[in-house]
Amino acid sequence: MQILSDISELRTVLRTLRATDDRPTPRSVGFVPTMGALHDGHRSLVRAARQHCGIVVASIFVNPRQFAPHEDFSRYPRTLAEDCQMLEAEGVDVVFTPTAEAMYPPGAAAFVDVEEVSDRLDGASRPGHFRGVATVVAKLFHIVQPELAFFGQKDAAQVAVLRKMVRDLDFPLEIIVCPTVREPDGLAMSSRNRYLSTEERRQALSLSRALQAAQMQAASGEHRASALLQTMRATLQEGPSARVDYVAVVDPDTLLPLDDVASGALLAVASYVGSTRLIDNALLASTTGNTVVPGKKKS
Ligand code: AMP
Repeated sequence: MQILSDISELRTVLRTLRATDDRPTPRSVGFVPTMGALHDGHRSLVRAARQHCGIVVASIFVNPRQFAPHEDFSRYPRTLAEDCQMLEAEGVDVVFTPTAEAMYPPGAAAFVDVEEVSDRLDGASRPGHFRGVATVVAKLFHIVQPELAFFGQKDAAQVAVLRKMVRDLDFPLEIIVCPTVREPDGLAMSSRNRYLSTEERRQALSLSRALQAAQMQAASGEHRASALLQTMRATLQEGPSARVDYVAVVDPDTLLPLDDVASGALLAVASYVGSTRLIDNALLASTTGNTVVPGKKKS
């Protein structure tokens, strides 16, 4: 496994790998962008990439442009040595670890704005966040030029923004979305779970529990988004130090609110547990045969 931080060196290495790759799987490049502090959620993306692609590239870059000044950029966990060990064990070919200076040379002034969808859910709570995400992912796509790029359903709003960016700007690649990987008790894995104290870790279960409660309610025939919202909000507010950021029932592509979930929906929650902001979501399947699957046309 090669670990590279220089953009032009990465391009040269990928050109050579594409030309010499002689494995039986197709010579496509599968790309897994991450911010490091890797866990089994990231591992699942890498495994999916390994399964589908002849060459697997992962990036580790804590992108300053997607953090607001008051957010956790400087204390975000950085565990490069362990991350590289895990990626090597999973058969990754190349790890790209650029510096902020290489990605954003002095005076860099170009951004990618995916309008409207970027202002919803996490985009509403974190203004400018998705501008930073879309810009760095667009740059990484240009640098790595993958055929397939792997993202987690855990970040459902990010998936909606990036799918729209790929569609609207004709990036020649396909986005593959992998299911959310959870701890045995249901907590969605996240690099930010490391911030939680023992008591907060217990309270953090309110997110997955809120989603489960709404999913069960929907499964027993409740179609009204208002009822599901009420259930999720009540479950989230059970914890003493919980501060709900948002609770939403939306279309997974547009992130616009839905009144009725019979045709499928994205249930999404964000809540502070102590000072740590956590997110989670669940997709509800259609009960009418008109399944809403992100990125696929509605039938
Ligand atoms: P991050 O390092 O947090 O930027 O995440 C990198 C990628 O891993 C993103 O596509 C995330 O959606 C994905 N990811 C993070 N947590 C999980 C999880 N628990 N299950 C599946 N994918 C995840």
